[in-house]
Amino acid sequence: MCRHLAYLGPPVTLARLLFDPPFSLVRQSWAPRDMRGGGTINADGFGIGWYAGDGEPVRYRRAQPIWSDPTIAQLAAVTSAGAVLAAVRSATVGMAVVDNAAAPFAEGRWLFSHNGVIRGWPDSVVPLAAELPVRDLLTLDAATDSALLWALVRHRLRAGADAAEAVAATVRAVAAAAPGSRLNVLLTDGRTAVASVLGHALSLRETSDAVLLASEPHDDDPAWRSVPDGQLVTATAGRVRLRPLG
Ligand code: GLN
Repeated sequence: MCRHLAYLGPPVTLARLLFDPPFSLVRQSWAPRDMRGGGTINADGFGIGWYAGDGEPVRYRRAQPIWSDPTIAQLAAVTSAGAVLAAVRSATVGMAVVDNAAAPFAEGRWLFSHNGVIRGWPDSVVPLAAELPVRDLLTLDAATDSALLWALVRHRLRAGADAAEAVAATVRAVAAAAPGSRLNVLLTDGRTAVASVLGHALSLRETSDAVLLASEPHDDDPAWRSVPDGQLVTATAGRVRLRPLG
């Protein structure tokens, strides 16, 4: 399983968001507090996407433990952003460990991450994959369930679905085709963040001008609340809505 987070709010340094908290995402890469679904550490890669201005996000991802990369620690100390999506990865058994398999996956302003697994991969989702243009299948980021999940969400976004509908419809379709799948995803364009909760934990902390969605709380602030399974979260800085995935 992986750990991921999305932040929307006033600009903060990546260090303050990802490195400094007592149970930060970086710490979660070697000592997560909640590792349901197998695995013990998240050392098979990491990725950070952040919005430096009004344009497309900057992305940095590697197939190595985040703690072993001195460059990202230095970059994080001097880089601020008001929207961030980051993930540390524990590869599902049999899946590629390469830079391109680490979230966030990206297109234009979109950043996407998946915490979980598609059961029966890849046979279970062949019928869904067949709905994609062949070009999308040939250009998957990596031969992983998460990369295919991103291609399915992206296909809906390209067709004009809004972020919440693209995530909800994809999660519903994959859960139906591959029962027992764990499908916690994050999708953001830097203004709105959408999260699904299916099979793994998600916590959220909101203040009047910021929101943080994370696989697990990164400190003991009582303001964190746990999102129940089967929910879809739609958040902007200062406004959070929950509804059933359907
Ligand atoms: N199945 C995905 C992968 O292998 C995500 C793994 C996870 O959530 N640990 O990349």
